[in-house]
Amino acid sequence: MTKSSRPIHQLTLFLVLGVSVLIAVLIPSAFFLMSYQGMQSSLKSETELTANSVNSIVHSNQKTWRFEELRLSELLERASHDKVPQTVLIRDSENEIVAKSGAIPPSLTISNVLNIYDAGTIVGKIEVYRSLLPLLKSTTMVAFGSISFGAILFFFFRELPLRTIKKAFQTIAESEKKYHSLYETMREGMALHRVNYGENGEFSSLTVIDINPSCAAMFASNGQQIVGGSSFLLFGDVFKEFLSERLMILERGETLLFDLQLPGTDSFFNIQVFSPAKGLVATLLEDITESRKSEQQIQKMAYFDTLTDLPNRALFYDRINQAIANASRDNSSLAVLFLDLDHFKNINDTLGHSIGDELLVEVAQRLNKHIRTSDTLARLGGDEFVVVITRLGEQLNATSVAQKLVDSIQRPFTIKENELHITASVGISLFPNDGTDAETLIRHADMAMYSSKESGRNAFNFFSPIMNQKAITRMENELGLHYALEREEFFLEYQPIICASTGTIAAAEALVRWNHPTRGRIPPIDFITLAEETGMILPLGEWVLRSVCRTMKLWNDAGLPRIRYCVNVSSRQIEQQNFPETVRAVLQETGANASQLEIELTESCLVSNIEKNILDVFGMRKWGITIAIDDFGTGYSSLSYIKTLPIDHIKIDRAFVTDICTNVQDQAIVEAIITMSQKLGINNIAEGVETREQLEFLQAQGCSEIQGYYYHRPLSVEEFEKLLRIETTRLD
Ligand code: C2E
Ligand code: CA
Ligand code: CA
Repeated sequence: MTKSSRPIHQLTLFLVLGVSVLIAVLIPSAFFLMSYQGMQSSLKSETELTANSVNSIVHSNQKTWRFEELRLSELLERASHDKVPQTVLIRDSENEIVAKSGAIPPSLTISNVLNIYDAGTIVGKIEVYRSLLPLLKSTTMVAFGSISFGAILFFFFRELPLRTIKKAFQTIAESEKKYHSLYETMREGMALHRVNYGENGEFSSLTVIDINPSCAAMFASNGQQIVGGSSFLLFGDVFKEFLSERLMILERGETLLFDLQLPGTDSFFNIQVFSPAKGLVATLLEDITESRKSEQQIQKMAYFDTLTDLPNRALFYDRINQAIANASRDNSSLAVLFLDLDHFKNINDTLGHSIGDELLVEVAQRLNKHIRTSDTLARLGGDEFVVVITRLGEQLNATSVAQKLVDSIQRPFTIKENELHITASVGISLFPNDGTDAETLIRHADMAMYSSKESGRNAFNFFSPIMNQKAITRMENELGLHYALEREEFFLEYQPIICASTGTIAAAEALVRWNHPTRGRIPPIDFITLAEETGMILPLGEWVLRSVCRTMKLWNDAGLPRIRYCVNVSSRQIEQQNFPETVRAVLQETGANASQLEIELTESCLVSNIEKNILDVFGMRKWGITIAIDDFGTGYSSLSYIKTLPIDHIKIDRAFVTDICTNVQDQAIVEAIITMSQKLGINNIAEGVETREQLEFLQAQGCSEIQGYYYHRPLSVEEFEKLLRIETTRLD
């Protein structure tokens, strides 16, 4: 039995004993008293009855009644009965016994005495005695029975509450044990506090009175140092404030919930506070540091660029909007710098994305060195970075930052043992002159950046309204281009390519033009890049191919010379998996001759494309199609593809031909290209030949074919057809 159950058991034992004793004493006593009373009243009435009879005898025998002994004895004899043994005596005034019935009265009796009157004078008395022995006997019997009953009761009930109590205590002990083990092992930290009140009964402080092991672990303590200390020292002022305002709510029995960062740590807890009893507060602590951290991580991912750790577009917009609001309030100005790396795509294409990524990280670090902490540098995506410079003193400020940024990129980077040289182009827009909202400022800085690219890269430029006009034109072009195909605004010109040795037409390059409804004829230089960026190049390229094939078939059928027809194909078209299928379909549909079709690819197209796609394009050679490398020498590729790919023609770029008669370096390059291609068995075509001198130089080097204004400018379909007919007659 536990310590605490003992007094309860003693109490119940006492109770049971009391009840048993009460039964044992009370029942026989009551029995005795009641029987005694009954006996007394029956004795009284019987005495009265006998007295009446005696009185009547006395009355009829005045003076002589004493001698009526016999009648009186008879009377007494009749009055007595067997059930209750009694003695009746009649005495005269001298106290002499006149008559008597029954034996001499025993010692334990009850008695009743009545006077006998004769004419109002007492002449004698009548005495009745009854023995108490039978009553005592039966009382003893009853007492015996009640004591036995009481004893049984006592012995039975003495054990019953003990068992119940034992069981109850067992249950309590078990649940206490369970609760305790739960308290000891629960993951949540549990702390119990005592509420301390001031003199006026107002809440003053909290004291820790118990903590479980989890709670101790949360505070990295053994618990001893915490217990007895101030709860607010443990949980901090935020908890104090929170609790002071809500103590009433707790006292109403409600539970409060809140999140708390522990003072001086990076631990976060979700805390449940309740009051288990008056003057007590319990806190249940759940460690949510991990989930908080992942929340913060997610938050970080939403606002920071994962590669460079710089603010991302979303955060940048937030910052720039704030900067604009501040600037308009203080009447100050700010600058937005848009920075884009030059030819970054080449690095990704030639060295791989992991090098590209590392370069971006290093670029971000270098740029960051030139940014004040109050300003924001962000990565918008790809190789585009933006900076917002606040509290701009004068335009010179933005200039110096821009120059620093451009210069910092210009120094070589070393990434995985590769020394990389890269430059950046920057565009600057100013608030409020170039725009009063984030969108406009960024767009205008972007335009200024484009103009830096156009002006030769590795430079910065301020935004100007002319740029805006250019951008508007570009947008109009984009829109116009969208409808140009269905409105049949494109047409082709053919530029003859002449055999250097015979002077005959060896081929013709199809060059596309756009007949704009308002702006007239637009050269491809002004819309091909746009068409490539928008994807329009795909349907446009297919249209060019189909037109060329149709014309070829028509002129073949007309008996004109079966020359090669050269079609420029953009990198975007090769990226399409099904380019060779498109060519085959067009050839089938038009009935054109595959071996008269030449595809012109640029060097950059060869390196930037998926190898499989390139191989598929060269696979078309089995149908008779030939392949030329356009603008040879201007790309950034290695020469290795020349060795591995079955190239039919190399087109020497116009840039090397233009100054070929005066520039020794150009001469050397052209000579080298021709010699190399001859050795590899590849034919070469010189582009942009405008003078006789150029022609003669190239002829002397052994150049196979010539294209340029010297012979012909690009010609309309009609003009070229005419030329072909002349050629036919000449050949005839
Ligand atoms: P490209 O393939 O290098 O085409 C040759 C360009 O040089 C043509 O310019 C042509 O008019 C020009 N040209 C030819 N001979 C001379 C010359 O002696 N002197 C000078 N100064 N220029 C000469 P165009 O027609 O303006 O085409 C420019 C570029 O547009 C082409 O360069 C080609 O890359 C692209 N292009 C033209 N048509 C198409 C097309 O159908 N598809 C694709 N993807 N690109 C095309
Ligand atoms: Ca070309
Ligand atoms: Ca070319």
